[in-house]
Amino acid sequence: MMEQHNPTHVVLVSSPGLGHIIPMIELAKRFVLQHNFKATVLAVTSQTSTAEKQILNSALTPSLCHVIEIPSPDITDLVQPNDAVLTHLSVIMRQAKPAVKSILSKATPRPSALIVDPFCHESIPLARELNILSHVYLASHAWALALIVYSPVLDQQIEGQYVDQKEPLKIPGCNPVRPEDVFDPMLDRNDSQYQEYLKLAKGILQSDGVLVNTWEELQHETLEAFREGGLLSEALSMKIPVYAVGPLVREPESDTSSVTQSLLTWLDEQPSESVVYVSFGSGGMLSCEQMRELAWGLELSERRFVWVVRAPTENAADAAFFTTGSDAGDEVAKYLPEGFLSRTRGLGLLVPGWAQQMSILRHGSVGGFVSHCGWGSTLESLTNGVPLVAWPLYAEQRMNATLLAEELGLAVRPKVLPTKKVVGREEIARMVREVIPDDQSLTSNSVRERVKEMQQSALNALSEGGSSYVELSAVAKSIEG
Ligand code: UDP
Repeated sequence: MMEQHNPTHVVLVSSPGLGHIIPMIELAKRFVLQHNFKATVLAVTSQTSTAEKQILNSALTPSLCHVIEIPSPDITDLVQPNDAVLTHLSVIMRQAKPAVKSILSKATPRPSALIVDPFCHESIPLARELNILSHVYLASHAWALALIVYSPVLDQQIEGQYVDQKEPLKIPGCNPVRPEDVFDPMLDRNDSQYQEYLKLAKGILQSDGVLVNTWEELQHETLEAFREGGLLSEALSMKIPVYAVGPLVREPESDTSSVTQSLLTWLDEQPSESVVYVSFGSGGMLSCEQMRELAWGLELSERRFVWVVRAPTENAADAAFFTTGSDAGDEVAKYLPEGFLSRTRGLGLLVPGWAQQMSILRHGSVGGFVSHCGWGSTLESLTNGVPLVAWPLYAEQRMNATLLAEELGLAVRPKVLPTKKVVGREEIARMVREVIPDDQSLTSNSVRERVKEMQQSALNALSEGGSSYVELSAVAKSIEG
């Protein structure tokens, strides 16, 4: 009888939030497809987001990886309702640790590695207890990782608030970070989330390696800083490797709902690269005034549009983080300028709350993306050759916008951060026209050209022998031992 070999088993743990769960499932699939591993994803879920439920349902049906849902523990006595998202996530993942431990220790075949997102860093010691490898998967880019892991040093070096600094924050071997671009948890050093953030930054470096969702050609210099002898690696005495394995993005989901089908039929009828897609990710919200200016701006731009709309909020810009996709569509119309819906009939579509983003971005009629610059959305745009209008709102998105618009030339952006000042209709119209000019055949559009080059570069990185393919193979090899 032939001897049956158990496949190498990796267990991946994700914190709540679509921007965390989706990339973790994608990474799991890569291990299965590229390396014949068994992959189990432990998804800690918010259970308050309709979109999260949908994504998990499609992942729970027999597929490439095995997904186990861990409902968020009740943390009402441990946090204040107004605590930041990062505080909530950190506490949820701390409380979920026993559940992760129990599943991990019983998993069969015995796992060879644990891979966690940064919010699950406190589970890294569980891997040590089981004598298996642990990796962190940051589904963001290398410059973001650099700021995170260097933050404990900045914490020692800099006095007062980061946002009050006159000079950019220096990170060895990397571009400096403008004070206004720091991550949300760095905006106020007195907030409890800042302490959680510092723990997370130190926790990441306790792992055996960090995977980032970027690729060599996109961020060569920053990745160099992390390599042996690199300036950042030296400054932090880093002992662990950083692997650029991206861009890992998902395939469009099959969705037979009438909303998606009529949207795709409408897109089929529009000219090539003529439609701007507008969406602010899983958590993004606009103020009432900003929402009206955006509507006016789209109308003034005279471009076709698909806009994923949410009722506005005057609270935090990430107010929808735990409830994504749960809005009632009819709520929204009353916040739009009078007559907007009738004037734009046939020219634009509004999708309430949540859309099949990958199906939209992949459609040939889409030529621009007004985006909050969540890294998942950014990569989905680039891999489909769609230039961005960068509209950062929360988390690390200000840094993403700077990277895209100022360093890489893949996006245009407003002059002032949208979280500081309402972006006016004229500026919105100008930016939309810049990514979708009147007659694309007559206009040389450098942003678009550059995006197309990066689309090809991404494809090369992922194909057999490409930089990201090779890096993921190195991770797999280290896990196989
Ligand atoms: N997404 C989607 N439909 C929407 C909004 C978002 O499918 O209407 C998906 C998007 O394709 C991406 C993820 O949700 O995969 C959002 O992740 P990202 O990193 O862009 O931002 P976050 O929402 O975490 O801020």
